[in-house]
Amino acid sequence: MTDETDTAGASMVGASMVSIEHVDKWYGQNQVLFDIELEIAEGETVCLIGPSGSGKSTLLRCINHLEELGTGSIWVDGELVGYRLHNDRLHELREREACAKRVEIGMVFQHFNLFPHMTAVENVSFAPTLVKGENKAEARRYATELLARVGLAGKENSFPSQLSGGQQQRVAIARALAMRPKVMLFDEPTSALDPELVGEVLAVMKDLARTGGMTLIVVTHEMGFAREVGDRVVFMDAGRIVEHGTPDEVLGNPKNERTQAFLSAVL
Ligand code: ADP
Ligand code: MG
Repeated sequence: MTDETDTAGASMVGASMVSIEHVDKWYGQNQVLFDIELEIAEGETVCLIGPSGSGKSTLLRCINHLEELGTGSIWVDGELVGYRLHNDRLHELREREACAKRVEIGMVFQHFNLFPHMTAVENVSFAPTLVKGENKAEARRYATELLARVGLAGKENSFPSQLSGGQQQRVAIARALAMRPKVMLFDEPTSALDPELVGEVLAVMKDLARTGGMTLIVVTHEMGFAREVGDRVVFMDAGRIVEHGTPDEVLGNPKNERTQAFLSAVL
C-alpha cells in the first residue's frame, strides 16, 4: 500500500499551513528572534503569549512578509514569504517570488485604524476592489455578509466615529477577512479595548477558530481565550520559543520556570 501523504515535510496532523524554519531576526545590532521553529497546520489556532518585548509582534510581522529575516525561512501555504534578502540564494528566491501567487494573510492590530471617512461597508470592501480588482457590487455584497458574520448587520453605513471600540475592531476583522486570507494574524486585538468590549471581539475570533477551517495565530494576554480556543499555546521570552504545547500543558502545567513566572504574574 502506498502512502500518498508521506511526502517530505508533510505533517502528521494535517497539511502544514505555516512553516517557520530556524528564523533569526535582527534590528541593527540587536537580535530579537533566536532560532524560531514552528509548524502550524491548516485550521489550527495558535495563541502566542509572553512578556512585552519578547518578539511576538516581530514574529507576526515576519510571517506577514513585512520584515526581512536574518536567517531562516518562513513558508505560508507552500509559498516562501520570509527570507534573508542579501544572500547567495537571492536570485533563486526572487525568481520563486515572481512565480508565486501572493499569499493572502490577514492581520488585525491592537489599534484598528479604520479609514475615518469611510463607512463600515466601504472600509471592508475597499481593499478587495482596489487591490484585487473585485467587482464593486460583489465586494459590497461580500462585505455586508462579513459584517453580519461579525455581528454588525445594520451597521453597514455607520462611520467609525459612530461605532464603539469593540464594533470598530469587528469591522477591522471583517476588513481582513474580505481579502479571503488563508491565515489570520491577530496582534493583541483586545488590548486597546475597554474591558466590557473585549468579550464581543473574542467571541468573533472564537467563531472564526471554530468554523471555516481558518488558520489563526493570536498574540494575546487573554489566558481564558488561549485556554478555551487555542489548539496550541506558544510561550515566548527574550526572542525565543521557550515552551509550547496544548493549553493544558503550557497554561496548566508549565515546565519552564520562565513560563511559570510569566503565568503567575498574569493569571
Ligand atoms: P512584543 O510584541 O513581544 O512586545 P516586539 O516584537 O514588539 O515584542 O519587540 C521585540 C524586540 O524588538 C524589542 O526589544 C523591541 O524593542 C525590538 N523592536 C521591535 N520593533 C523594532 C523596530 N522596528 N526597530 C528596532 N527594534 C525593534
Ligand atoms: Mg507586540
